[in-house]
Amino acid sequence: MSPRHILELSVEEQRAFSDSFDMVVSDCDGVLWLLDGWIPGTGEAINALKSAGKSIKFVSNNSFRSDEQYMEKFAHIGAEQVQHDDIVHPVKTMVRYLKKHMPNQRVFSLMSLEANETLRKNGIEYESLEVNEHLTCAKMLDCLLIEKPCEAVLFDIHLDMSYVQLCKAIYHLQLNHACKLIAGGTDVIMPLTKDLNVPGFYFLLEHIQRFTKREPIYLGKPSPLLGDNLKEMFHIDEPSRCIFVGDMLVQDIQFGKSLGFQSLLVLSGSQTKEDMLAAEPEAQPDYYADSLADFIQLLKNIE
Ligand SMILES: [Mg+2]
Repeated sequence: MSPRHILELSVEEQRAFSDSFDMVVSDCDGVLWLLDGWIPGTGEAINALKSAGKSIKFVSNNSFRSDEQYMEKFAHIGAEQVQHDDIVHPVKTMVRYLKKHMPNQRVFSLMSLEANETLRKNGIEYESLEVNEHLTCAKMLDCLLIEKPCEAVLFDIHLDMSYVQLCKAIYHLQLNHACKLIAGGTDVIMPLTKDLNVPGFYFLLEHIQRFTKREPIYLGKPSPLLGDNLKEMFHIDEPSRCIFVGDMLVQDIQFGKSLGFQSLLVLSGSQTKEDMLAAEPEAQPDYYADSLADFIQLLKNIE
């Protein structure tokens, strides 16, 4: 059956839909706000869902924002009582993974300054490479010198990623055959504005893979490992009582469905109704809405 718009359900169906889930797990960019702007009513929708007794958690593929910067955005949209632990993004999942599977191991970070700050705060020993001068081959050789091997290379969306940083990450992986490649945000497309999509970081990760023959451990959406983590962190015992809300068919809808969640695509972000209808039936969401803000109306309709 084709996905149904939540406001085109009858009032009885809207009530049954609302009664069918206890937890909303929502993407952030494209759902709550845009990279370059805001989406009206999303904070109010979060508050209304909470007032209706729903628990709401947030899962983003963007760690180029610190938790504090996430909190500022939640405050801006007027979402009340959002806690740090309600938000999951790749570097936090990486910290969890490292503490559990590789405690006290040194890592090389190909991640943003904000993500590195999260590593530091969590006591992860990491190496990163910052080069702010013109590079000659001689200087580059200096930069590639490895004093201490690393046990993992952490890869994530990193707007300042440079050629020499990529080379050093590859060199770490080549030098230590046990060194793991751990990947966070690896989207194929990064929508900067409604009209401007730039290539995502997936292709840079592919570059590392090509030269190292290393298979990454994926910890961003839609990774099954992240799914297991979420179920554990948010104490999800009954996945069918959760609904995943997102603006991307692969990272959000496919991910939510793989976890056994219900799924809802919002059209406020990257993908259009035409994209949704053009997808294979199994890749389509259960429901769709213009925006998360449609929940305000839905909850009023069933009062
Ligand atoms: Mg999104």
